[in-house]
Amino acid sequence: MSKAFSLTIGDAAYAVDSTFDVVNPSTGAVVGQAPDASTEDLDAAVAAANSAFKAWSVTSEKDRQAACIAIADKLEENAEELAQILTREQGKPLGGIGSRWEVEKVVAWARFTSKLSLPVEGIQDNEAGRVELHRKPLGVVGSITPWNFPLLIAMWHVAPAILSGNTVVIKPSPYTPLSTLRMIELMSEVLPAGVVNCVTGSDSSGSNIGGAMSAHEGIRKIVFTGSCGTGEKVMESAASTMKRLTLELGGNDAGIVLGDVDAEAIAPGLFWGIFINNGQTCGSLKRLYVHEDAHDQVVDALVAFAKTIKVGDGLAESSVLGPIQNQMQFDKVSRLVADAKSRGDVKLGGEPGEGLFFPPTIITGLSNDDSLVSEEQFGPAIGVVKYTDQDDIIAMANDSDNGLGGSVWSSDVEKARALAGQLECGTAWVNKHGALQPNAPFGGVKKSGLGVEFGDEGLKAYTDIQVIMS
Ligand code: NDP
Repeated sequence: MSKAFSLTIGDAAYAVDSTFDVVNPSTGAVVGQAPDASTEDLDAAVAAANSAFKAWSVTSEKDRQAACIAIADKLEENAEELAQILTREQGKPLGGIGSRWEVEKVVAWARFTSKLSLPVEGIQDNEAGRVELHRKPLGVVGSITPWNFPLLIAMWHVAPAILSGNTVVIKPSPYTPLSTLRMIELMSEVLPAGVVNCVTGSDSSGSNIGGAMSAHEGIRKIVFTGSCGTGEKVMESAASTMKRLTLELGGNDAGIVLGDVDAEAIAPGLFWGIFINNGQTCGSLKRLYVHEDAHDQVVDALVAFAKTIKVGDGLAESSVLGPIQNQMQFDKVSRLVADAKSRGDVKLGGEPGEGLFFPPTIITGLSNDDSLVSEEQFGPAIGVVKYTDQDDIIAMANDSDNGLGGSVWSSDVEKARALAGQLECGTAWVNKHGALQPNAPFGGVKKSGLGVEFGDEGLKAYTDIQVIMS
C-alpha cells in the first residue's frame, strides 16, 4: 500500500516524527504505517477542535445537516478505497457482511443522521411564564474506537457529535488506524478546518493517547466503544473534569431457543447472529441456550449452515469470513475453546488454523459454569447449553454482569416477545440477533455500558440541557 497516512489536525495533514506498522491479519504482511502521536500532538488536535468549535457551534442546524450529506457523498465517492484499506488492516472480507457492507452502512448512517434535529422544546407557556428546553453542544468530543468495525463505529460517534454542533478528536484502535485516518481526511475535505481531527498512537510507544484523552481538560465528552475494563478506566480518569460519557462496552448476549422452532428456518439467522464479523461484535450472540425438544435439530442445522461458509483471506472475493483480527484476541478464543473442548462435545471446528485463522466452532454440552459461556469470547466460537425447564431459562440468561443484548427464538412470536421483555439487556430481539438500526437507541445495562447511541436519544447525549425561563 503506497499511500502515506497522516494525522488530520486543524486545516492540514500533520506530520509526526515516528510511525508504527499496521499488519494484515490474513497474511501478517505490513500494509501501512500510522503516525505514532505524542500527547503534545493530542494537545494540538484538541486545540484545533476547540478553536473550530467557536464557529461550528453557532452554525445553523440546517448547515450541519447539509454537512452530514456532504460527508456521505464524499465517502460514497471513495467507498472502494476505504473498503480496501479496511480489509487489509482488519481482515474482514471485502464482500458479504464485510468491508464494502461496512462502508455502505457508514454512508447510510451519515445520511440518516442528516435528518435528525434538536428543536427547542416548550415545557410551559402560560400566564405563569414561559419555560423552554434548549440543547447546547458540549465542545470537543473525544471518540475512542475499536478494531472490530473501525469505520462504522467511528461514524456512530462522529455524525451525531458534529450534527449537534460539537467538534471531534478521534483516536482509532492501534490495530486498525489506517481506514479511520483516511476517512477523517476525506471528511475534513468537506468540513471547516478543525471540526474533525484524528490522532493515532501505538501501544508500544507508551503514549497512551486514550488515557490522555479521558483526562484532558480540553475535551468535554468521551464516547468509547471497547472492553468493560477500559470503560471503567475511562470513567475514573474522566471524573475530575466531569466529562459526559457514552460507554458502549462488552456483551455476553444470550440467545434462547424455545422447543417449538423450525430449526432449518432459523439456522441462517442464528449463524449470522453468532458469527457476524467472525463473532468480533459487541452485540453478537455469545451464549446459546436450546430447549431439549429442539436441541439436536438446531445444532445439526446450525452446523450444516456453518459448513457452507468459506473462511479465507479477506482480499479473496470468495471469502465470507476472515481471520481473527489480532493475536491477543486469537489467544483469548483459543483459551476458551480449549477449555470448552475438555468439557463438551465439539460439533464443528475447535482447532486453530494457520496464522490468525480460526474456523467457526460449535461446542455443545456446556453449562453456565464453563468459561466459553460465562466469558465474552469475541470470536468465532459458540458454547451451546441444553435446557429443560422454561421457567429456569430467563434466570440462566440473566446470570451475567453484562446486559447488552439478548434474543428469543420461537414460532410463537408473542410468547417470544414476552420472554424477551424479561431479559436484562438494552436490546432484546425476537427471531434475530444483533440487528442495529439508526433510529433505535442502542446501549447496555449492568456492566455493558452507560448511555445509548443512535436516534434522538443518542443525539441528545452530545448536548447539555439549558432551560430558559421568562
Ligand atoms: P480495549 O477496549 O481495551 O480498548 C483499547 C483502546 O482503549 C485503545 O484505543 C486504548 O488507547 C484505549 N485506552 C486504553 N486505556 C485507556 C484509558 N485509560 N482511557 C481511555 N482509553 C484508553 O480494547 P482491546 O483492543 O484491548 O480489546 C480488549 C477486549 O475488548 C476484547 O477482547 C474484546 O472482548 C473487547 N472489545 C470490545 C469491543 C466492542 O465493540 N465493545 C470492540 C473491541 C474489543 P491507547 O492505545 O492510547 O492506550
